[in-house]
Amino acid sequence: MRTVLILGAGFGGLELATRLSDSPADDMRVVVIDRSDSFTFGFAKLDILFRDLSPATARVPYSRFTHPRVEFRQEEVTEIDPKNRRVRTDHAVYDPDILVVALGADYDLGATPGFAEDGYEYYSIEGALRLRERLARFDGGAVVLAVLGVPFKCPPAPYEGAMLLHETLARRGVRSRTDMRFFTPMEAPIPVSADTSAAIVEALAGRGIAYAPGRPVHGLDPAGHMALTATGDVPYDLFIGIPKHRAPTVVAASGLTDGGTDGWIAVDPHTLETPYPGVYALGDCADAPVPRAGVFAEDAAGTVAAGIEARLHGLAPPERYRGRGTCHIEFGGGLVGKVEADFLSGPAPVAPFTAPSAELAREKAAAAEGRLRRWFTG
Ligand SMILES: Cc1cc2nc3c(=O)[nH]c(=O)nc-3n(C[C@H](O)[C@H](O)[C@H](O)COP(=O)(O)OP(=O)(O)OC[C@H]3O[C@@H](n4cnc5c(N)ncnc54)[C@H](O)[C@@H]3O)c2cc1C
Repeated sequence: MRTVLILGAGFGGLELATRLSDSPADDMRVVVIDRSDSFTFGFAKLDILFRDLSPATARVPYSRFTHPRVEFRQEEVTEIDPKNRRVRTDHAVYDPDILVVALGADYDLGATPGFAEDGYEYYSIEGALRLRERLARFDGGAVVLAVLGVPFKCPPAPYEGAMLLHETLARRGVRSRTDMRFFTPMEAPIPVSADTSAAIVEALAGRGIAYAPGRPVHGLDPAGHMALTATGDVPYDLFIGIPKHRAPTVVAASGLTDGGTDGWIAVDPHTLETPYPGVYALGDCADAPVPRAGVFAEDAAGTVAAGIEARLHGLAPPERYRGRGTCHIEFGGGLVGKVEADFLSGPAPVAPFTAPSAELAREKAAAAEGRLRRWFTG
């Protein structure tokens, strides 16, 4: 019996374990470790912030993550030794035959001076709750939204946040006395898709949200409530930032990030194997040539599952990672658009856009439901 150890039961880890559970190989057991007792979709944070969803309702307990040959253990990963394929947790030591690191990305609020003191974010559940409470007291003024670093999770999410904030403030009657400005170091919202970028830029303009591409905010002056940029300081009453991301500390300490861009895990873009034999990385923590998003982690899980099955039987990897993912984008008013990206199948990435509609809103909800049905029981 060979053991596959998956670190992280997020989008990527859940999909990989589910696929391996379905594998015809009967000589494999799968152990999945996560520090949390439950899974939450990334986009649920928008529902927590703007639709009063309670975090308890958004959470899906791992007690419902039950698949044949898969064991879930709620433990904290404290050390990864990729050379010896050994993992320590707060409860045990593991020496698996195959190791997959799917520990996601952490937020580094301290990397932007002044942000932790005077800024708000909605990329964590705690941050979304804190901003929700602040918005309830917001009575108009200058709102600055900013992407503070690249890469970050879900490229459309900062724009979804801006459009849903516009809608929320309009509903409360305070939008007319609110100035909204959006800053980003990127030159376009979704660089791989000109049509998607154009639709988002047009939607921001239509809502009176000033868009400043290629203009990073490098810090805040909490005393003066100023966002600092290379071309001048910008006053705000409310600053909402997408925090800089980094690999989890336990990953950074493991040596897995050596050779990866900007501290992410170096992987073979075709197989998602690290330079250490039998050690794979997927999802937000991996330096694969795709954006950070659950849908890409999910596609990567398919490639890694096929690679693991082949490796356990002494065969070559049967498929190359294609970097595909369909991202749904909320525009407000119950309308959702989508971009269907394929980064690696062809000679160049393609990413056609479909305009927002109520039908795509239903499609997004059905996609989430489908994943819950596949990954969880009950
Ligand atoms: C506001 C927002 C909206 C989003 N919308 C979308 C969307 O519409 N579509 C989409 O595809 N993506 C979306 N995303 C992005 C998506 O949530 C992530 O890209 C995705 O979850 C990445 O999957 P992952 O498996 O790499 O990591 P994660 O899902 O983050 O899973 C990592 C897991 O590792 C665990 N972990 C970390 N460190 C340890 C440790 N030391 N010990 C034990 N366990 C540990 C964590 O508890 C976590 O469960 C959104 C994100 C945000 C913030």
